[in-house]
Amino acid sequence: MKLTTSKRLFRNAQKYIPGGVNSPVRALNAVGGQPIFIDKAKGPYLYDADGNRFIDYCLSWGPMILGHAYKPVLDAVRKTLGKGTSFGIPTEIETQLAKTIATAVPSIDKVRLVSSGTEAVMTAVRLARGTTDRDIIVKFIGCYHGHVDHMLVSAGSGLATFGSPSSPGVPDDFAKNTLLLPYNDLDAAKELFKKQGKNIAAVIIEPIAGNMGTIPPAEGFLEGLRTLCSKNKSMLIFDEVITGFRFTFSGVQKMLKVQPDLTCMGKIIGGGFPVGAVGGPAAVMDNLSPDGTIYQAGTLSGNPVCVSAGLATLQALKAEKPYKKLGDSGRKLADGIDEILTAKSIPHTINRMGGMFTLFFNDEPVTDYDGAAACDTKMYAKYFQHMTANGIYVPPSQFEANFLSTTHTDRHIEQTLKAVRSFEPK
Ligand code: PMP
Repeated sequence: MKLTTSKRLFRNAQKYIPGGVNSPVRALNAVGGQPIFIDKAKGPYLYDADGNRFIDYCLSWGPMILGHAYKPVLDAVRKTLGKGTSFGIPTEIETQLAKTIATAVPSIDKVRLVSSGTEAVMTAVRLARGTTDRDIIVKFIGCYHGHVDHMLVSAGSGLATFGSPSSPGVPDDFAKNTLLLPYNDLDAAKELFKKQGKNIAAVIIEPIAGNMGTIPPAEGFLEGLRTLCSKNKSMLIFDEVITGFRFTFSGVQKMLKVQPDLTCMGKIIGGGFPVGAVGGPAAVMDNLSPDGTIYQAGTLSGNPVCVSAGLATLQALKAEKPYKKLGDSGRKLADGIDEILTAKSIPHTINRMGGMFTLFFNDEPVTDYDGAAACDTKMYAKYFQHMTANGIYVPPSQFEANFLSTTHTDRHIEQTLKAVRSFEPK
């Protein structure tokens, strides 16, 4: 496969953009690759600057659940564009998007729109701290909640540790208010609450983890966290930036039957544009300014072009009800990969939920960060390179999820499995 143009574009980009990319994983450092530069995309396909075509399972890290350049979304955006692009003054469609989210998600009465998942988390955390008048946030090792300071914290050893910054530039003083727990370990959470319960403002969690690869919650884990939070008057925040509207026309909270106090959303609700959201009960959400005292704002929050893309996406998902099809496609692909790699005796585990899955190169069950970290990342790099060379774009890191869109058909899945069949790692 020729990547001549992408190579040239990357060299140029490196002169003017740190690392040549505007978000680090795009540099493909984890898989030793040469970034492809995209020219355009349609349905399940990416087309790069050299004219190569790829079946895309990264889908812009999750938003493009209806496939790329989905016509009703493009039409909605064009219609809005014709009226102007930003006013900094309310528009009716902001209420329509907020109402659509609030109606679909049982724990949400009101929604504040922002411009990214990171901002949604920032807002939820400030709202939880301001509402409870407590400082400590509990997060789970391996969950990612955006690049905001108090969430960029990694663990030391031990069950519950005080966090230490996982990036230079995050002050220790910030990190010390973030406590870490292992995912799926309810006993560790109970221990921590025994000691710190009355100081904990909120527990934040990806209800299905996606950022250490796909890891579903163990039975009773989220329910246990709900009980701990309720007993201690701490808030439970579900970060549904990945899971929101992915498995059902709601948050995954509806499927898992656990109600958080606050929910963060992003990705799908923006239909490929920068939109994030935080939602919850009216009594809590009204603590935000202007009615409340907890400050939050944004020049481009609720931007009409972005909101119209999100609204068109949610309207299509509501009308088309594609969730069974997405789950069926996910199962066919994941089962197919599993069968091929088993026949080749390549150690692996696949965790899947609907149209989202991760192929871990580790034959033990992967239920937390330690399990994910034990994977053979060199094998994953070989897999990524083999798949890319065969026109299949999978996530460029072992610790990410594959996503299916409504435009991935049996034909695309068969083409993908064909590429997996010829994978012969040395
Ligand atoms: N939370 C989760 C669960 C995410 O997956 C992400 C992004 N991958 C974020 C928050 C941050 O969102 P954004 O990149 O839009 O700031």
